[in-house]
Amino acid sequence: METKCCYICEKKALSKNEIGLTKKLLNKDSMRFYCLNCLADYLEIDTEFLLAKIEEFKEQGCTLF
Ligand SMILES: [Zn+2]
Repeated sequence: METKCCYICEKKALSKNEIGLTKKLLNKDSMRFYCLNCLADYLEIDTEFLLAKIEEFKEQGCTLF
């Protein structure tokens, strides 16, 4: 898989979870990806909530994670 970097802070090599979360929460076809911290800022929620979401999506068997 090609590596993606964060649209905001340019953190390199985003994890599969970070990419999956961007797709899931923003736009499935998004060309802009956010690291966990920037995504939390952008959505005005805290990172713990995002981490909980990742686990939730995994449990649902979401293939993005
Ligand atoms: Zn970032």
